Order: sequence, then C-alpha cells, then structure tokens
Amino acid sequence: MTALFIADLHLSPDRPGTTRAFLDFLERRASRAEALYILGDLFEAWIGDDDPSELARTVIDALQRLSRGGTALFFLHGNRDFLVGRRFGRETGAQLLPEVHVANLYGQPVLLLHGDSLCLADEAYQRFRRRVRNPAVRWLLRHLPLRRRLQIAADWRRKSMQSNSNKADHIMDVSAAAVVELMQRHRVATMIHGHTHRPAVHDLTLNGRAARRIVLGDWGSLGWAVEASPHGLELRSFAIG
Ligand code: MN
Repeated sequence: MTALFIADLHLSPDRPGTTRAFLDFLERRASRAEALYILGDLFEAWIGDDDPSELARTVIDALQRLSRGGTALFFLHGNRDFLVGRRFGRETGAQLLPEVHVANLYGQPVLLLHGDSLCLADEAYQRFRRRVRNPAVRWLLRHLPLRRRLQIAADWRRKSMQSNSNKADHIMDVSAAAVVELMQRHRVATMIHGHTHRPAVHDLTLNGRAARRIVLGDWGSLGWAVEASPHGLELRSFAIG
C-alpha cells in the first residue's frame, strides 16, 4: 500500500527528457500505487483544457491509462497550471482538489497544497496570485480565443527562461508564521507542498508536539516524490537519465 506525491515537473515541449521521465514514473511506479497526488505545476504553462498540443495529449492519455488501471488520481493546481479545468479532470480521471486539502493517509491527516500561498514575502507575486485566482479573471482567460492563449503561454515561457525563475533562489521561501497558522487551523501534524524548489523534510514543534513539513523538489536532473505507506512518509529523489 503506497500513495505517491509529486509537484513542479514543469512539463514543457522544451524539456522532453522530463516528460519521458514522468511517463516512465507513471508506468513503473504510479501504476503500482494506490493513489497519485499531483500537487501543482505539473505543466510549465496550461492554456486551457482545449490545448491541442502533442504534450497535452500525451500527458492526458498517460494519466487516463493510470487511472483506468486502478490508481486513484488527484490534481491540485499550481501557479502555472491554474487553468486546468473540469474537462482535464474528466479526460484523465483525476479528481481536482481545492487549494488546500486534508487527505487521510493510513489514518493520519496530511495537509496538501501547492505552496505558493505560503510565500507571503513575495508581495508582487501575491498580488498577481489574487488576480488570477479571481474566478471572473479565470473565466475570462479560459474564454479567450485559443490563438491568443497560445501567445500568452509563449510569452510566459519566454519570460520564465529570461528570469530563470525555475531556479530556487529566484523563488522566495515560505513564511514560517503562515505554515504554523495553516497547520494549526487544520489540526494536522504533517504538511506536504512544492513550489519553492527546496526539497527537504523540516521538523517543527506545534503546540509542544512534533510536526513535519515535507517539501517536494522540482524535476530536473533529479525527480522527486514523497512515498506514503502505513509505515510513514518518505521524501525520495531519483536520477533522470
Ligand atoms: Mn509553483
């Protein structure tokens, strides 16, 4: 019995090696797991569920194979693929999760989120986030003509390559107070998130009791996954050829 957690693959036509590693991960590891949780930024950019690109098709087909094979599939939005919608859920068999979700893992409640909402020091980003998380703005974006959305996505990709924003030092870390507040509010001793590209297991104390914050890594020369079983949770990396 295992459940797997991944985030920040940033799949893009520019990095076919990561896509191959992901397809391989689905076939060899996720297919044997009870559940796969994708905690955001699976894609570098997602322009809408009608994306006709080969990458979108390939990934949707592979996820559909996985869920039809009996692995429960969960998807939580990141800041780059926040336009993933219901059609994606239908086609892949994934259940779309809210921004913050408490999963019951073998009797233990575990708080799941992408992690960008914890990075309060990045005020410019938090303003952008509030804007795109607004349902009206999302509705508008989704209903732009496909050609326009393709332009926007190309623009985002170019900007992200220029600013190298996939590197950890360019993304601010979480605010410790936000972590504690959220964990206390949801009464959990374990949290899993991604986004910061700073993979680690952080031990902390909450109300005098031991707690843990597990941060998934982004996929590059290494892939990262948290493996949960009745024996506990483990953050593991593996080489990507
Ligand atoms: Mn992110």
